[in-house]
Amino acid sequence: MSPREHHVLGLSGGRDSAALAVYMRTYHPHLDISYFFTDTGKELPEVHEYLGRLEGFLGKRVHRLNPDRDFDFWLKQYNDFLPSPQTRWCTRQLKIRPFERWVRQFLDKGEIVYSYVAIRADENYREGYSSKRDGLIVKLPFKDVGIDKAGVLDILEASGLGLPRYYEWRSRSGCTFCFFQQKIEWVRLMERHPQAFEEAKAYEKSAVAHGSPFTWSDGESLEELAKPERIAQIRREHEQRVARRRAKALPNPLRNNTEPVDIDDLYAHQKPCLACHK
Ligand code: SF4
Repeated sequence: MSPREHHVLGLSGGRDSAALAVYMRTYHPHLDISYFFTDTGKELPEVHEYLGRLEGFLGKRVHRLNPDRDFDFWLKQYNDFLPSPQTRWCTRQLKIRPFERWVRQFLDKGEIVYSYVAIRADENYREGYSSKRDGLIVKLPFKDVGIDKAGVLDILEASGLGLPRYYEWRSRSGCTFCFFQQKIEWVRLMERHPQAFEEAKAYEKSAVAHGSPFTWSDGESLEELAKPERIAQIRREHEQRVARRRAKALPNPLRNNTEPVDIDDLYAHQKPCLACHK
């Protein structure tokens, strides 16, 4: 008898994974896919709102996978050192571990788990594609059928879901205080979610007092970043980048909608995190 099969698709609250869920529901409706979201407990309210809308479209509940220990517990375990691009303990403990615990129940019985991941056709990123566990098979449907960023936007628009609301001010899902944010996004977090900004500031103060070499944002504390003259400078620099980017963009006669300029397109490229930002 062939082993039982499961199909799972991780939603990050981001654009690409939402579009993949819509795509799978539309083009592979016979697959009984379990959708899941690993909740760090520090997510933007806009993410929860978007997941609710997505559940409406999919006609299915999205499983919330909660970490067994929260951010504060792990922060203590890591000696109060903030996570950073160099030591990304948050992704490991709060996103990947809960997923591994969840699928272990199937894999330990010798069952097969197909995990659908939203890597687009225009992305070269290879890291994390293969699974180290027998029976866990990673599938990349957008790569297979050639769906790129414009294709993702088309899927979301056609479905009526559109983009998550945070796209008005930030282009990544994930924790309110994610260190992958650009400085302009910190400024906007301060305006949109002042409490979350204050919480990040408090974490940072405590971490620095405990000897953490990392601040959330490169080279300056949030206290420094929040000074009016610094905010004005960050805004100015950002607007200049947007203007340069727009001036370079070639018009596309095949598409009448203008693609949004992602923050990642403007600043030195950082690989997206598959677990948090897809
Ligand atoms: S969103 Fe950022 S801070 Fe949150 S777990 Fe992912 S990498 Fe870490």
